[in-house]
Amino acid sequence: MIKLRETLARRLNRTQEVRHKSWPVREMVEQLTALSDAQFGQYAFLHEPLEGKFSAAQKEQYIQAANRCGQETAASWEARLSGGADCSESQPSRLLTKLAGQLGVTVQDETVPIGGGHVLFAQFVEPNRITIFRDCLERLDLLIRDEGLEDLFEGVDFRSVLLAHELFHAVEFAQKDRIYTQTEKVELWRKPFSNKSRILVLSEIAAMAFAKALCRLSFSPYALDVLLMYSYHADAACALYEEIMAAAGLPLTQETGEEPC
Ligand SMILES: [Zn+2]
Repeated sequence: MIKLRETLARRLNRTQEVRHKSWPVREMVEQLTALSDAQFGQYAFLHEPLEGKFSAAQKEQYIQAANRCGQETAASWEARLSGGADCSESQPSRLLTKLAGQLGVTVQDETVPIGGGHVLFAQFVEPNRITIFRDCLERLDLLIRDEGLEDLFEGVDFRSVLLAHELFHAVEFAQKDRIYTQTEKVELWRKPFSNKSRILVLSEIAAMAFAKALCRLSFSPYALDVLLMYSYHADAACALYEEIMAAAGLPLTQETGEEPC
């Protein structure tokens, strides 16, 4: 999730200037896990370099199409890996291992501590290498235990969520001539030569939808952005939470948030 790393780096810088409310973790998780994929799409578009080129209606269409791409890609790989049998009950981690094998992707786990304002959660390096950085997963486990959030994440395998997201990028790499997130382009200018650019955020939205489907989550994995960040920088996570809620059209009244100490 390279996007998350970028978001975190930027956020760490910004929160040195602006103080934010401190939101209870459980409240943030409950609100975030109730948001729709379309609402998270609005948040995702905030970080799209070409965002200003699109109308609200166009953005909505892109968000829908990217989510559909992620869901359909997940469904077609599930069907392919199960050989036609119903595998909706099978373990996400087993499915993902099979998928990595089919794609010829090597998956390795590494521990990388925070450094220089950058935290990596996971990454796909073309053509075929995914690394999961365990530091964030260990911190996340601790946070969930400390805050007593186990009931909100029953049965969720966070490593699989990170892995599934990165595997979508591997699928995109393997199918770049025909997958929507790679083929959909916007014309930046026409004269004297046509210049078309990809809309980068579509990949991220689709990767989240893909991970949500394969890991059988009831909420968007985007909700985990805030929690993963919280375990490194609580103030930055609260600021991100406010940003997501505003993008989702649910501005906060700040009645329940406490002043930072
Ligand atoms: Zn990504």
